[in-house]
Amino acid sequence: GNGEKMMDVKKDFPILEKEVYGKRLVYLDNAATSQKPNCVIDAISEYYRSDNSNIHRGVHYLSEVSSEKYEHARKKVSEFIGASDPAEVAFTAGTTDSINQVARSLEPSLRGNEVIVTGVEHHSNIVPWQMAGATLKVIPMDDDLNVLIDSIEISDRTKLVAISHASNVLGSVNDIKAICSIAKEHDVPVLVDAAQSIQHMPIDVRDIGCDLLAFSGHKMYASTGVGVLYTGERFRDLVPARGGGGMVDKVTIERTTYLDPPLRYEAGTPDIAGAISIGAAIDYMQRIGMDNIKRHENEVYSYARKRLLEMDDVAVYGNTNEMCGAISFNLDGIHHYDAGLIMDKMGIAVRTGHHCAQPLMRILGVEGTVRASFAMYNTKEDADMLIEGIEKVRMMYS
Ligand code: PMP
Repeated sequence: GNGEKMMDVKKDFPILEKEVYGKRLVYLDNAATSQKPNCVIDAISEYYRSDNSNIHRGVHYLSEVSSEKYEHARKKVSEFIGASDPAEVAFTAGTTDSINQVARSLEPSLRGNEVIVTGVEHHSNIVPWQMAGATLKVIPMDDDLNVLIDSIEISDRTKLVAISHASNVLGSVNDIKAICSIAKEHDVPVLVDAAQSIQHMPIDVRDIGCDLLAFSGHKMYASTGVGVLYTGERFRDLVPARGGGGMVDKVTIERTTYLDPPLRYEAGTPDIAGAISIGAAIDYMQRIGMDNIKRHENEVYSYARKRLLEMDDVAVYGNTNEMCGAISFNLDGIHHYDAGLIMDKMGIAVRTGHHCAQPLMRILGVEGTVRASFAMYNTKEDADMLIEGIEKVRMMYS
């Protein structure tokens, strides 16, 4: 059954056997970055041990092996997200980089116009649009912090809707399919920030109907410093944000013509091992099954949430129709940072602060929160440890 399948998962992640301060590590900072399974670590190591070479340019054997592995990873990503063609998948340096590249490419149309976002966005889905000269408009939320999709106001000046699939703070999941369908009626493109959803649930870009999708390798069990930008049919011919080697057709001193996507978006030597690590992480997740991962995580997540809600002196933020990954909370009268420090000494890794979502902190009326965030290897025992941690914090402050 599902339970059995997920029980073995922890064994695949060597770091989870670690002790910190002589205590078992309870890693609940997965929204910041996930741990890596042996198969991903091995794929990276194997690449540098036996295949390392630059791609796409060499005539020699190793360059061909590297190129093939790199392109194979692209194909895996493409199938994983339901893209119609691997050419729609570009490797980037991560979610932040993907969004910045889009902002740069679309800057001429964004400048002086509007981008629609939600109130829960990560700074990386706010700042690049501001830098491109756009004004942000926020879709309103209800008291439980559900984004009120029907209140979306698209005007002639709206050039893009850019929204997170899941919040890195609340764990709230937005109905991006509904948002895409409304945007489509107005012929406005949609970018989805999937940094906090790609590791938690099956994603199909064609079913969702988004035009652009961004995510990071490191939050989905792969390397840091590598990520993905999916560009669908509408943006087949985006003006590249960066120029250099590997993305050109013909260069003269007067002018340059570009290669077709995806290579036109990959100027310079990419993180080859990183891309391969994403392929290996996808293999791993698919072996376990995205539906199994989703079901298991949902069980642990709901359990943790229920236990937190039972505590009278704990404020848990947000209560939306669908949730995954992160839970944010505060203890009455105790600073989030102090709470995090005490839990750290118990071996419990949580994150404290504004989580790169200062506009959301403002909506919550707090400076920061304690955030516990879950991955496929977390268990109800981990959630119990979180509760024990909170009880300890409370004891030390009473
Ligand atoms: N968007 C969201 C929702 C995130 O949670 C994060 C990472 N915390 C990012 C974007 C940025 O990802 P990265 O730092 O990997 O570029």
